[in-house]
Amino acid sequence: MYDLFLYKQLYCYLPTFLTNKMNLLNGKLVENNAEIPLVKLYEDVMSFKRVSKVCELGLSRAIALACLQIVKLETDGVTSALDAVNSFGAAGMQWAKRFFSENISITLNTALGLGDVCRKWLNENNYLTDSVKVVSMDPQVLMHSSKHKFVYLEVTGTVVPYLDAAVRSVNHNGLLCVTCTDTSTLYNKCPTTAQRLYGANLLKNEYCKEVAIRVIIANIAQSAARWNKGIKVEMCAAVEPGFTVVCRVLRGPKHGDISISSIQLLEHCQLCQARRFKPRTKYITPGNGKTLCKCSTEEVAAPILLLGPMWSGSIFQPDFVLKTCLTATQMNLSSEHRKILELILLESVCCKTNEEEEKLLKHTTQFNGESQLNQESEPEHKKVKLDSEVTQVGSENSPCLTKEMRSYKHIPFYCDFQHHSVKGGNPPKLLTVLNELRSRGYNASKTHFGPRGLRTSASVEQFD
Ligand SMILES: [Zn+2]
Repeated sequence: MYDLFLYKQLYCYLPTFLTNKMNLLNGKLVENNAEIPLVKLYEDVMSFKRVSKVCELGLSRAIALACLQIVKLETDGVTSALDAVNSFGAAGMQWAKRFFSENISITLNTALGLGDVCRKWLNENNYLTDSVKVVSMDPQVLMHSSKHKFVYLEVTGTVVPYLDAAVRSVNHNGLLCVTCTDTSTLYNKCPTTAQRLYGANLLKNEYCKEVAIRVIIANIAQSAARWNKGIKVEMCAAVEPGFTVVCRVLRGPKHGDISISSIQLLEHCQLCQARRFKPRTKYITPGNGKTLCKCSTEEVAAPILLLGPMWSGSIFQPDFVLKTCLTATQMNLSSEHRKILELILLESVCCKTNEEEEKLLKHTTQFNGESQLNQESEPEHKKVKLDSEVTQVGSENSPCLTKEMRSYKHIPFYCDFQHHSVKGGNPPKLLTVLNELRSRGYNASKTHFGPRGLRTSASVEQFD
């Protein structure tokens, strides 16, 4: 009996394990994600499980790479970049390879014992120059003692302990890119841990991934405010196994005040999933005068929870996301990551018509064709030109983001439309719902948060 149980367990477990292992060995995950032979590099020093975890955060590192390129184009003189958390140094090595002999100074922090592995690899490939430094230090000490234009935090677990130091370390108008894998806490598996680390009430519901992102951002904003700084969220991504947030750090108490005012509680009805941010006030008032939904009757009040506090402002800047998409294409990052970035772009604009969406997509793919053509013919000469094109295309006056698209208001939270469809019948297809909503004049788009999710300006009630 026990044998059968064991056999069943193994039988379920083995195939995914084997395919993962095979992918890793074939270099598939490695080449796609990290551009450096991570497995080969680390296999002597650590277990397969840990290495595969490093490889899985490839999207986050791809975003960091594109962001660093954007920061580089914005900066006169040397751009200083820091891969702050002392773990594998994978991101830093990737930058050293990509931005070899460019005007960037890179510091990468590695765990004790891994520094030599990194240094050896960089040296063998001639990437180890004066502008690349490998250290093994306490991340807090490192960040408190140096300032950078771009800081990248990649943490397995929670990122909260690093935020104060990280925000302090970023120069005015620099970028902070944060990645953590703290999914179980952020999906409220243990409410006391969520309270202790993030200071927030959480709930596992249809839009909990976005709540997780917003709670992380609220913690970044709170840390920034302590140093009289504010933040502007440029983009975010929630793709297994982690969350990534990119924000700009702005110096000055005024910016701090603005960001703090964006941290609010969320009213959430457990019956109909209706949701609304509660304005910050010191008075005890139910909502802003109006009731949240129609679930309450005269006898029974609806179970309305207060979640958060969390970030209530925008979580995407369409201009920045577009810039990231184009940069990713130009840098020829893996197509898998580019597809996710395109989805984030569509989500960030949340178009009103199919034509607008097609126009946006056409722009990114057209650019794709051009850049490949250029790279084939004269790589060195054209590269400079391409850089300037990116700044042009991604600048505030980018022609493909029309004035109208920019005027669309940010829509907080996606819905899982199957939760709201008529019970008993076949659930409608995502595209059908999308087209129906657009034909009724609402903004609507797919979301990268999940295959069944929709972001739309229609309210949950209108959905039914
Ligand atoms: Zn309700």
